[in-house]
Amino acid sequence: MIVKKNADEIQNYLSDASNFRGNPDCVYIPESEEELIELVKKCSWQNIKLTVAGNGTGLTGGRVAETGSIVSLELLNKIIEINEMEKFAVLEPAVLLGEFNTILKQKNLYYPPDPTEQNCFIGATVATNASGAKSFKYGATRKFVEELRVILPDGEIVEIKRGEYVADGYNLLFKTLSGKSIALEIPEIQMPGIKHAAGYYCKKNMDLADLFIGSEGTLGIITKIKLKLIDYPSDILSAVIFFDNEKDALKMIFEARRLSREFKAANNSTSINAMGLEFFDADSLAFLRDEFPAIPQNTGAAVWFEQDYSPENEEKLLEEWMNLIENNNGDMEKSWFATDESDRFKFINFRHAVSGKVNEFISRNNMRKVGTDLAVPDDKFEEFYFTAKKTAAESGIRNIAYGHFGDSHLHLNMLPANEAEFKQAKIIYKELCLSAIKLGGTISAEHGVGKIKREYLLDMFGNERIRKMASIKKQLDRNLILNYGNIFFEDFLN
Ligand SMILES: Cc1cc2nc3c(=O)[nH]c(=O)nc-3n(C[C@H](O)[C@H](O)[C@H](O)COP(=O)(O)OP(=O)(O)OC[C@H]3O[C@@H](n4cnc5c(N)ncnc54)[C@H](O)[C@@H]3O)c2cc1C
Repeated sequence: MIVKKNADEIQNYLSDASNFRGNPDCVYIPESEEELIELVKKCSWQNIKLTVAGNGTGLTGGRVAETGSIVSLELLNKIIEINEMEKFAVLEPAVLLGEFNTILKQKNLYYPPDPTEQNCFIGATVATNASGAKSFKYGATRKFVEELRVILPDGEIVEIKRGEYVADGYNLLFKTLSGKSIALEIPEIQMPGIKHAAGYYCKKNMDLADLFIGSEGTLGIITKIKLKLIDYPSDILSAVIFFDNEKDALKMIFEARRLSREFKAANNSTSINAMGLEFFDADSLAFLRDEFPAIPQNTGAAVWFEQDYSPENEEKLLEEWMNLIENNNGDMEKSWFATDESDRFKFINFRHAVSGKVNEFISRNNMRKVGTDLAVPDDKFEEFYFTAKKTAAESGIRNIAYGHFGDSHLHLNMLPANEAEFKQAKIIYKELCLSAIKLGGTISAEHGVGKIKREYLLDMFGNERIRKMASIKKQLDRNLILNYGNIFFEDFLN
């Protein structure tokens, strides 16, 4: 076990990409799962708080320890198996998503959850139920997890195969490898029927795997993951379409979404069926122009879409997309169409750049992130979007809006120039959360709650339901050592 204690050695573990900062006393880096289990047992006996660190790209302060120690899983990073015939992979938690994707591509396999950032650990993407552009078609990480091995906060190990431990109604019973039986009562909480990643997954007859997926390290440490894979799409149509105004861009997204859903229902292979539908407002495009000078001047909005195709349906699909773009006044002259894989990756980088530059901005200005991760039901989205933009614009604080609009999921990032603006931006952020909740939406569609969104989770679910969720943690983590401060305020754990 490597142990780092000196201030200069632990610098890299003090924050994450949200710039939320902590104060750990040391960082443990186990070289094997056995060392990790010993450490967890020691912390449990001695009541030492232990926060799990992935690669620190999280946007909620989840891996940041306000107190106690950190355990970094960075050395548990082996790809144990990639099974090309049966299309699955078994991984240790610290395999880098980007490296995994590169290896899969060489084998003509594909792992669709694509949380924009590639420099993250697979284990952390499971712990946060990460999702991204391609979740529009394929769903979030949860959909691809087949098995998990988890170290519980007392050092017990549980191995979970989907289908093996399924709740009887709201009663979930399972056994650890040592034979200890654990019975959990899952609270009856209505989850929003949209993309959602805030608080524990609670559902009648749910699978135990789903409780750990998205639990942000509060219930256990994931040490092995079996993921379902699919064939790498043979060809992918990819384009960034520029529009004079936002209304047209939104109309194209909504129309493409409707057609994609109809395609799924009818299984029609010559119709539009987008993998992802991403939006950028004019301010995001202006924010990116230094790095991407080919962005047309005075453009009002952009949409990036992708769709997989085969030689048989290529021509028909191109025609369908061209019609859709023209009917919605997309600028055919200035838009970007990928002609090969390298263009396609340029568009992927273009999308990544906007999130990356926001994080750079807040870090450079020594601020904390004030960016929404809100989703609302589809029929409420357009009105919600324009109201949110108006509220942000009226504040006079620089802001940019982009996101996974196919999923009605908005990242509106405020870019405060000083502390006074930061405080004002936080007030606006809260207003937007309350308005999304009122519309039946979620305060986090993909980043999770961590330490910076607990207040809004409480707004979303209320005291009683949060207390019920927290009771699951109290049952599994009696000494409250693991990822303390994530999801729940202290009051709910007493
Ligand atoms: C530019 C940028 C764009 C992003 N875009 C997206 C996006 O589109 N979608 C999205 O979902 N996220 C996005 N993110 C957020 C981030 O990449 C994801 O949350 C990712 O899953 C975090 O991985 P990490 O290894 O950096 O984890 P960390 O930040 O280190 O940790 C994240 C959380 O997981 C817990 N954890 C880590 N490993 C384990 C484990 N093995 N067992 C239990 N708990 C564990 C940590 O304690 C922490 O609570 C983006 C981030 C950046 C910087």
